[in-house]
Amino acid sequence: MSVRSLIEAFDRERAGREMHALAADLYPICRSITGNGFRQTLDLLERVVPLQRTEVPTGERVLDWNVPREWNVRGAWLRGPDGSKVVDFSDHTLHLLNYSVPFQGRLPLAELQPHLHSLEDRPDWIPYRTSYYEEDWGFCLPDRIRRSLPDGDYEVWIDTTLEPGSLTYAEHRIEGASPRTVLFSIHGCHPSLANDNLSALVVGTRLASLLSAIRTRYTYHWIIAPGTIGAIAWLARNRSRVESIVHGLVLTCLGDAGPFHYKRTRSGTAPIDRTVEHVLAHSGQDHGIRPFDPFGYDERQYNSPGFRLQIGRLSRAEHGRFPEYHTSADNLDFIRPDALAESLILTLEIVEALEQDRRWLNRAPDGEPQLGRRGLYRALGGMEDPGQATRAMLWLLSESDGGSSLLDIAIRAGMPVPVMAEAAQSLHEHGLLEPDETGTGLETP
Ligand code: ZN
Repeated sequence: MSVRSLIEAFDRERAGREMHALAADLYPICRSITGNGFRQTLDLLERVVPLQRTEVPTGERVLDWNVPREWNVRGAWLRGPDGSKVVDFSDHTLHLLNYSVPFQGRLPLAELQPHLHSLEDRPDWIPYRTSYYEEDWGFCLPDRIRRSLPDGDYEVWIDTTLEPGSLTYAEHRIEGASPRTVLFSIHGCHPSLANDNLSALVVGTRLASLLSAIRTRYTYHWIIAPGTIGAIAWLARNRSRVESIVHGLVLTCLGDAGPFHYKRTRSGTAPIDRTVEHVLAHSGQDHGIRPFDPFGYDERQYNSPGFRLQIGRLSRAEHGRFPEYHTSADNLDFIRPDALAESLILTLEIVEALEQDRRWLNRAPDGEPQLGRRGLYRALGGMEDPGQATRAMLWLLSESDGGSSLLDIAIRAGMPVPVMAEAAQSLHEHGLLEPDETGTGLETP
């Protein structure tokens, strides 16, 4: 079985529905960078694919950071002067400032105000706020409610624990013919937020489950970790593994209805950059390409000068650039089954292009070999345009002199990788091309 056969057998509607249903199950869980919410999330993701978990104890030094104390929530609410509840954590995980320290007490509105967070320009939405590395407590609520609060004494009850424990991250690995590894990294620390980042959790794990069914040339490795500190902890503990990572993608925000966005690696010219841009260009999908910047998600860690991993970022909506970002409006209605399915297909197409990108050598380089005599003009019956197949073969024969890879040739010819790969296979079967992967570290077919 090949990646192509996975794409062809893909039941888009069913997969979209199932991924959205899993996101709905994950949505109410209060996740954070540590704690039981993250572990419960992994429990649910294990319905899709087995995960290997690592617990990194509080206080462990990870690169320039320390693993913080573990945070868990039993409950939290705020009552107004008349005793009625203003907000309750059990209604929405975003109501509580993530990593709030425990606090119980009565205080007047003026003293409460610095602990309240709302969005003036989006009066009905609850913002998502965190305080991981500074001890604080607080509530997040719609500005409309905040503005209607009467003067008087408020009762605060925040029943959280912040104690020595551990940070959890999870991995899944598919051994390929070569140890050379493609990394997929997904952050999973956000509470009830759907696009950022339940969408990538459900798409990424589904991708892992699909690829488990086939034999691949590359090894594939998934990391599901809390943002920033999780990726840092993984890098700190896996230096020896880093060298084998040759391509990778941070997956995030893959469920909204907007166009795809690819953020390049720091070099901007890595094979993964060229691969994703090529696949997007031939996908027929609206998309944008962005240069690297040191902001955003965990591409920052992987691309840092000490690691220099060639890891780009694939998303639809971009970090911080959609109104619903980090608010209660990034909910289950904001992500769509068809968009999740389309994102999954795109990741499969990227994997397919990586798998098929190999160097070939023309074994009949003197002049143009006679294709007609070999029946090659009609050999590619599956292709809609036989002229395209012939053009692909002529490009391959012309460029396969040991320097160019199949992706290089596909880019130069302006034709999609799967078409080139099928033509190359045909030429190979007729003895006109032979694999040449000297120096790539990959197995020959
Ligand atoms: Zn976020």
